[in-house]
Parts: sequence; C-alpha cells; structure tokens
Amino acid sequence: PSLFSAIDMAPRDPILGITEAFNADQNPAKINLGVGVYYDDNGKVPLLACVQKAEEILIAAPAPRTYLPIEGLAAYDKAVQELVFGADSAVIQEKRAITVQAIGGTGALKIGADFLKRFAPDAQVYISDPSWENHRALFESAGFTVNNYSYYDPGTHGVNFAGMIADIKAMPAGSIVLLHACCHNPTGADLTSAQWDEVIAAVTTGGLVPFLDMAYQGFGAGIAEDGAVVRRFADAGGPLLVSNSFSKSFSLYGERVGALSVVAASGEEAARLMSQVKRVVRTNYSNPPVHGGKVVATVLTTPELRQLWEDELAGMRVRIKEMREAFVAKLKAKAPSHDFDFVRDQVGMFSYSGLTKEQVGKLREQSIYAVDTGRICVAALNSRNIDTVIDAIAKVL
Ligand code: PLP
Repeated sequence: PSLFSAIDMAPRDPILGITEAFNADQNPAKINLGVGVYYDDNGKVPLLACVQKAEEILIAAPAPRTYLPIEGLAAYDKAVQELVFGADSAVIQEKRAITVQAIGGTGALKIGADFLKRFAPDAQVYISDPSWENHRALFESAGFTVNNYSYYDPGTHGVNFAGMIADIKAMPAGSIVLLHACCHNPTGADLTSAQWDEVIAAVTTGGLVPFLDMAYQGFGAGIAEDGAVVRRFADAGGPLLVSNSFSKSFSLYGERVGALSVVAASGEEAARLMSQVKRVVRTNYSNPPVHGGKVVATVLTTPELRQLWEDELAGMRVRIKEMREAFVAKLKAKAPSHDFDFVRDQVGMFSYSGLTKEQVGKLREQSIYAVDTGRICVAALNSRNIDTVIDAIAKVL
C-alpha cells in the first residue's frame, strides 16, 4: 500500500452538494435558493458599474505585475481600514490598528486564526450556534478547540439572547469569541444595538478576545450602520480582530478580496503585531494578488466611484428587503395560518425560514433547492421566480 492508498474520501461540502444537484436538474424552471451569492432581479450575479469603471482606469495605465508587499497594497489597506473603523476613528489616529489585505474573508479569518494560535495556543474558540459552516473548520485547522455559544432560537426565529449572554459570561478569560458583525450567516438574525452593548460589556469584563467577522457590510442597515459594531468594539479598548470581505459588497467573489485588521493597545504594540501577522502571511502564500485589491482601492479612493459603489450596494440592500416584504406578503395570502413575519425582521442575504429538512426535501421535488437547515438565500429571489417559490412553499407547509 502506498501513502495515499488508505486515505479516506473527505465529506462533501453540503452547500456545494446542493449546487451539484441543482446543476443536474433538467427542469428549466429550477430555482436555487441554496447559494451564498447575491443575484440581481434577472437572476444574474452583477458586475458592478463601479468595478467596471475602476478596471477601465486600471487598463488605461498598464502596470507590470510585481509582487505586492506581504501586507498588500498600501492604498487598499488604508482605505479598508478607514471603511472598517471610520476615517475619524481613534484607533487609526493613534496608529493602533493594522490592516493587511487578505485572500477574501476566508483568508482573513485563517490569517487571524494562525496568528492567534501562535500567541494564545491554549485559548478556547467560541462560535455561534449555528454559524457559517467554515468557521469551525477554519479554527480547528489552525489547531484550536472550537465550542459553540447559544445563538439562534427556533421558537422566535430570532436570537436567544439570554442564552448567548449567559454563555459569553461563562467563557474562560482569554477565550476567543467569534461574532458576526452584521447579517448573521446562516440565520439572518442580528443583535439589537442594546444587546450589542451588553455583549461588548461582557466581552470586555470577561477578558475575552473578540474576533468580528464582517462579510456583509452594507447589506444590513447601511455601510456605516453595519460597521458601527466594529467601531464600538474598537472604542471599548482591548484587543480586537476584524475580518472583512468584498466578495459580496463588490460582487467580486472570484477575485478574493478581503482584509484582516487587528487593534492593539499602542502604536508600538501595533508595529510588533504587524511584523508577526506578516510572518503568518509570508508562510502561507507570501503576498496577496494584485487585481482585486487595486479595483477596490480605486473605487474606495475615487469620490465618484465611491458614490457609485455606495449607490449600487444600496440597490442590492433595498432589493433584498423588497424580496423579504414580498415573501412575507405573498405567503400570508397563500398560507394565512402560517406566520412568516420574522423573515421581514431578519437581516442580510439569508433567512432561516423555519422550513424543516423534510419540507426542504419536498421543495426539491418541485426543483426548488434550499439548505436542509431551512436556510434560504433571499438574494436569490426575484420578481420572476418568487411566485413559483411561494406556491411551492405553500404546498409543503
Ligand atoms: N464569513 C462569513 C460569515 C461568510 O458568510 C463568508 C462567505 O460566505 C465568509 C466569511 C467568506 O467570505 P469570502 O468569500 O470573501 O472568503
């Protein structure tokens, strides 16, 4: 037997499995609500006009593809830091924040996890129950033990806040707590501002290390509104890590653009952290790719393009909200005895719809694909497919 002959098949990715089944379905009216991608009203992944215009600017001034610095494009890191913390943030003015370009939000999480493992090797990591399915695997692959904190309440389709705060208060000092800054994936259930106050207080008094994952900035209440949680954590002092992604907000999925930011206690500490984060990047992939970083930096730093981006992102956010409204209203008409009002209150691209695994299975018989947990991507609904979806759901209730 060779080294490879005894290796088992790894488990299939559940979401990619849905896509495979969807692709194999011959029904031309099939609908995939299992995805984690924003589609426009024509059912297409948008190419944002701000991105196209930035690319025109870049093409008009051809540049050789040298290596970027380990930490990425300087203009990108600066613009992203200002976006994430607010340009007037004390942590920026006091040079206490470092930001490195990363290979999407996933890359930012992995760099953060590897960095933490070096300096807090015995810390426990806590993620929400449920969470984005890659969180656990990412932190486990960095060598951590990953635990859950209570999060979702299937009874209310919202947050089990009493359970969450009790679990946070019980975490040992030094634990790493991963929090979704906004637009919780997979549930769509976010904390209120007052609940965030309590979480920030508990994290601070408990001596925990918050790691905020912000993959959907701008899809909730707005760019600044969604980023407010990050700013409040930064103001609370203490260590803080933030991963952010432009996959969804710039519709740049395949370009892999994101960043990791770390807030230190002083400028001098920040410089030491930067040197160590660079070491993690260097031993993983050396330095990030050029194109996506240049596109995002160009958009963020060119006032007209920035405005265009903010408008286009607002368009995506508003369309999702309209789909939530339509979903609730149309289901109310078709299935008045069932209450789906909570879908309107959920935030971001996803909804834990409350559909059971069995109901999801019956939807699939009608060529409508959702995740077994009942997660649907509201951003995959559009004015042409929503009636089909509603009829199918009404049938399986
Ligand atoms: N974090 C969360 C909560 C996500 O939902 C996602 C993507 O779906 C990511 C991180 C990863 O983002 P990216 O595709 O930029 O790696």
